[in-house]
Amino acid sequence: MKSITEIFPLLGKEKKNIVITMHQKPDPDAMGSALGLYHFLNMLGYTVTVISPTNWATFLNWMPGCEKVIDYDYRRQEAEAALQKAEWLFCLDFNTLSRTKNMAVSIGKLNCVKILIDHHQQPEVTAFTYGISNTAKSSTSEMVYDFITGSGNKNLVNIAIAECLYAGLIGDTGSFRFPAAGSDVHFMAAHLKETGFNHTKVHENIYDNFLENRLRFIGMVLLNRMEIMYEYNTALIAIPKNDLLKFDIKTGDTEGLVNYPLTIQGIKLAAIVIDRDEERKWSFRSKGEFDTNTFARTYFNGGGHYNASGGKSSESLDKTILKFKQSIKENASLLQ
Ligand code: 5GP
Ligand code: MN
Repeated sequence: MKSITEIFPLLGKEKKNIVITMHQKPDPDAMGSALGLYHFLNMLGYTVTVISPTNWATFLNWMPGCEKVIDYDYRRQEAEAALQKAEWLFCLDFNTLSRTKNMAVSIGKLNCVKILIDHHQQPEVTAFTYGISNTAKSSTSEMVYDFITGSGNKNLVNIAIAECLYAGLIGDTGSFRFPAAGSDVHFMAAHLKETGFNHTKVHENIYDNFLENRLRFIGMVLLNRMEIMYEYNTALIAIPKNDLLKFDIKTGDTEGLVNYPLTIQGIKLAAIVIDRDEERKWSFRSKGEFDTNTFARTYFNGGGHYNASGGKSSESLDKTILKFKQSIKENASLLQ
């Protein structure tokens, strides 16, 4: 993979068809970084299509440009046509092609220039022509900002770009609380703010944009579905499919739930498993020195960052829960 800086002199030189994609079930960082880049590349005169591998939470729909994003699962022909025409393919906020779900085979076969911008651990660098992978970065949105400013285009950052990138920044830094939110991140936020965008509105759009059922669901989950294992400083939330049906839970409604147990004193690892149709989906969050990336890779076919990762299992809910309990026993010393 060649350095992303080698792209800078090429920017804006020739008309090109560009596709931007991100990981499945995009979160604010995946969608925000993709749309921030979309607005920037549009301004440079490119024809740009954003494709999401799957659907996304409705609380992202306010983002400028979101209405143009193609859902690969639902509009496959259109998405494939754009992919076949693409001369450059930007891959944002994921480290392995498998994170693009049903799109992965198509993307793997494409011969176009592939560009990675990502902050996850252990990227599949051989799959990309150019790129940057930096696990120290707070978010892919910060990296897209670096891409824009590093290529000498800081003056092009406008309100639309600021709204998208700020959403990604607050999403992945827990609104500036995680260690990766260093001075660079705060300088970036200050510069975005200078465009005049309304940061309060962005927070409200993301965090105060749910229906009553979701709050009732959270109440039920915290009361009935959370198990605390003080011996291992670990909390587990397990959500059976019936709960999702009963409360009419949609994509995005479970986002952030995994963070609640970390508010309990002493809890070092929080895990949630959701019994989705196609798989049992795991999320892991830790505080301090517990490497969720290694944990997710070792036991749950996943990965991510040091303190935040995800994984999956094709086993039944009960079996995968047993496996989790066994795996934390094996990690008991690391969880003290
Ligand atoms: P979440 O728990 O919010 O789904 O994901 C936490 C972090 O881990 C995100 O950065 C996400 O991209 C990554 N992640 C989630 N699931 C998986 C997975 O199955 N495989 C890999 N490699 N990363 C994942
Ligand atoms: Mn991210």
